[in-house]
Amino acid sequence: MIPAESAVKEADGLAFGRRVREDSGVDFNRCYQCLTCTLSCPVSFAMDYQPNQLMRMIQTGAAAEVLRSRTIWVCASCETCAARCPQGIDIPRVMDTLRQIALREKIAGREAAIPAFHLTFLKSIRRWGREYELGMVIGLKIKTRDFFNDIGLGIRMLMKGKMGLLPHRIKGAGEIQAIFRKSREVGED
Ligand code: SF4
Ligand code: SF4
Repeated sequence: MIPAESAVKEADGLAFGRRVREDSGVDFNRCYQCLTCTLSCPVSFAMDYQPNQLMRMIQTGAAAEVLRSRTIWVCASCETCAARCPQGIDIPRVMDTLRQIALREKIAGREAAIPAFHLTFLKSIRRWGREYELGMVIGLKIKTRDFFNDIGLGIRMLMKGKMGLLPHRIKGAGEIQAIFRKSREVGED
């Protein structure tokens, strides 16, 4: 495992910009700060850096701030910004690339719960072919060390049968696992 600090340092500056461009295939250098993306974004209120600011930060090589930002995890990949950007910049693709880099480099960002949920959810899908809610809740609690928040809600859901005690593997689980294996081979996992 690469310690977060050295990963950020390694990814710093121009090398970071090059890596994001190569991995995403998006030329974010075409951004001229018109703000259309930010004004269109439905979740910009919850971001620590607005989408246009993030583009500028990648251009200037602010690797550590970008990879630790809340923005890359709050982005809902709704594609509104990409559809409206006059320069045709695929911002959600850039966000996706940044999330992958942050996960691969094990960089602890300001929004720890969302990547923890992301990994726990994927693990459940890979194993069972579908979401195993109780397993996800337990996995998430262990990852975030937040053991008691929402415990009452969890118990009520169990009692009303909204969450099953045991997992159910779907028929095509093997095919789902094959998709995960293929993704890993091409470096998308
Ligand atoms: S809409 Fe496109 S060009 Fe305008 S600020 Fe956003 S990324 Fe840059
Ligand atoms: S894709 Fe992300 S950054 Fe773009 S508008 Fe949607 S939520 Fe905002």
